[in-house]
Amino acid sequence: MKFSGKNVLVTGASRGIGAEIAKVLAGYGLKVWINYRSNAEAADKIKEEIEANGGEAAVIGFDVSDEKAFVEGIKTIIDSDGELSYLVNNAGITKDKLAIRMSVEDFEDVIKANLTSAFIGCREALKAMSKKRFGCVVNISSIVGETGNAGQVNYSASKGGMITMTKSFALEGAARGIRFNCITPGFIATDMTKELKEDIKKAYIEKIPLRRFGDPKEVAEAVAFLLSDHSSYITGEIIKVNGGMYM
Ligand code: NAP
Repeated sequence: MKFSGKNVLVTGASRGIGAEIAKVLAGYGLKVWINYRSNAEAADKIKEEIEANGGEAAVIGFDVSDEKAFVEGIKTIIDSDGELSYLVNNAGITKDKLAIRMSVEDFEDVIKANLTSAFIGCREALKAMSKKRFGCVVNISSIVGETGNAGQVNYSASKGGMITMTKSFALEGAARGIRFNCITPGFIATDMTKELKEDIKKAYIEKIPLRRFGDPKEVAEAVAFLLSDHSSYITGEIIKVNGGMYM
């Protein structure tokens, strides 16, 4: 995979899909900034793994829903490397509940962690990348941002918002050569889906044409393609990585 840029910030990269994105991108030769919120030890382990495989990585802890901290984090990267070539807005949370039991706080917490954070990242990336007239952002949305899901009014709103926000950023960034794309994973085997009860997992698998949950690596390779020079004419696009669950 060919990349014209040199570094990438992956938010929420201490575990799950983010950690795999970090490892895959380091494998393609990018310097990876591993962001985490609370688990510094897990982030350090990912850095060690990348370095053991001959890659380059740095750890940067901040809460993506804290505007000041996110802005400061991107500044630290640019002060260190002279630029931010790529950004992957991956960090995300769920707070599932049926809508009739969901408080405004439950709703807003998820919007802030998933959507407002991605807005801050996209905005700061657009500013920084505009100076170089080069850069690319991938936002990790979700299949439920396309379909909706019972028990996830907050999460689906955050991920659906991310899809149209990505298209709007793509329109604003295009004249400056900056691309914004989105991935909508289906059910991927991480901590986020580990908690699902076995019978519920089974019911979901029956609805997936490929008859299994996805592997984080399968999302990571799609991210790599969207950041790479191989997708240089693709912007404002949504790539589904969902085993055919929603076509
Ligand atoms: P995960 O295993 O729960 O990992 C979440 C990661 O995000 C962790 O590294 C966590 O860091 C970090 N994080 C959460 N809130 C953060 C914040 N405010 N600031 C900085 N980091 C934060 O989740 P995942 O399954 O890998 O999901 C990754 C992304 O894919 C999410 O956006 C999720 O919505 C999306 N997605 C997942 C699936 C799936 O089936 N797994 C499907 C569709 C979409 P700490 O450990 O330090 O808290």
